[in-house]
Amino acid sequence: MTILLATLNARYAHASLGLRYLLANMGTLKEQTALMEFVIGAKTTDVVERLLARAPSIVGFGVYIWNVEETARVVAMLKRVAPQVTVVLGGPEVSYETGQQEIVRLADYVVTGWGDVTFPKLCGEILHGPKPLMKVHAGVQPPMADIALPYSLYSDDDIAHRTIYVEASRGCPFKCEFCLSSLDKTAWPFGLDTFLAEMEDLYRRGARLYKFVDRTFNLNVKTSQRIMQFFLDKLAAAPGDPVYAHFELVPDHLPEALKETIARFPPGALQFEIGIQSFNPEVQALVSRRQDNVKAAANIRWLTEHSHAHLHVDLIAGLPGEDVDSFARGFDQLVALGPHEIQFGILKRLRGTPIIRHTEPYGMVYDPYPPYTVLATDRIDFSTMQRLVRFARYWDLVANSGRFAHTVEAILGEAPFANFMALSDWLYTRTDATHRIALERLAKLVQEWLQLRGMAPQAAAELLASDYAGQQNGQRADKPAAKASEPASAPAAPTAAPAAPARQARHLAA
Ligand code: SF4
Repeated sequence: MTILLATLNARYAHASLGLRYLLANMGTLKEQTALMEFVIGAKTTDVVERLLARAPSIVGFGVYIWNVEETARVVAMLKRVAPQVTVVLGGPEVSYETGQQEIVRLADYVVTGWGDVTFPKLCGEILHGPKPLMKVHAGVQPPMADIALPYSLYSDDDIAHRTIYVEASRGCPFKCEFCLSSLDKTAWPFGLDTFLAEMEDLYRRGARLYKFVDRTFNLNVKTSQRIMQFFLDKLAAAPGDPVYAHFELVPDHLPEALKETIARFPPGALQFEIGIQSFNPEVQALVSRRQDNVKAAANIRWLTEHSHAHLHVDLIAGLPGEDVDSFARGFDQLVALGPHEIQFGILKRLRGTPIIRHTEPYGMVYDPYPPYTVLATDRIDFSTMQRLVRFARYWDLVANSGRFAHTVEAILGEAPFANFMALSDWLYTRTDATHRIALERLAKLVQEWLQLRGMAPQAAAELLASDYAGQQNGQRADKPAAKASEPASAPAAPTAAPAAPARQARHLAA
């Protein structure tokens, strides 16, 4: 009576933390439970065949915005060829609006919210009775200390080849209406000593790349400092075998004590993902995002100037009340602060999020299919939104990739948003594509663009060549927006940590 825990990850490198939590908490059913991870894009028949080869009684699927359509096809096929297999769904995508979803109709049961104790209980009832009467089971949230941590379930292969996701806390106390975490209303920490002991064990087994999924890592400064100290100790003990950690920060909360700790990290060891989302106070108020913009900007500036952390800052286009001009002002403000990457996202209406209340008043039109991207608002029409979508894509290729570091500065000039939008529109006219543009072709196009904007051919060629040469030599062309000076308080900088992901390593190569 095998129970399979299955999901389709976005990439092979993304090992599912959620499935490992479920497995760790299966209790007496653990011995008969196995993980099966797939990658989106896999053939549905292959996935079903591999699942059925294990002769499961129950298959539990982790369902997310990025895999719901493919998972629905897998569930539909599975129930056709093996109707005796009980299908249980869980995950954020099926935790809300369950009555409206085809995948829920196809499945036997759904666990909404936290599955740690509810999923094993449901499996026990399915296997041993009494048969559960309800289709949808609201996940019970146990005390954090009762949740078995899953880290020993990362295999040696996972540790060697995949990103290791970890969490020191769940939930978020903030209420940004576009975000599913806004429904949590608070954050719940795991026991810190137990958590750090698990991190130690992962390190001993060879883990060097830790990605924290905590929504607001810097909520509790003492906890943040202890976790960071764990990594600083490892870096000090083995500078030749560096460790790398990724955290999500709220931008307006960076007390001095935390700054001091951050400043001690060498290059290539630390990445921060920082959500700004919008610099427009009216938009922030509309979506209930509490953010002190002055403090947030000062903290990003401090990080670029006094730390070696790689900064990845998020902005969202298409929020209610935001027009292109106000978004452009926020974008330009952020470029001036100099983060290494600006993640330019388009608003998505995640199932269950309260942003739905703005749909009518602000003319929000969303794609009915995942990932439910906003298509138009009362301030941004459809064709303009499509231009923003292409801007985001080209921004990723040209700016965030780190491949055109010198050149980006020349492209952006004094009006980053307007200038890059002009490039984006031109690139689309020339290529009719936003994907599958070979790097060499992109470089030629960028060079042509610079010449069209008045740069001498020789100067444009040299600029592009300097970026290319920098990458060839493993050296970074200095980041355009991030004119960071060496931090006075930082330790003598060792070379970029080999553990740093490739894109960050390109930004670092200097
Ligand atoms: S956007 Fe960030 S701060 Fe806001 S609710 Fe979501 S996780 Fe919390």
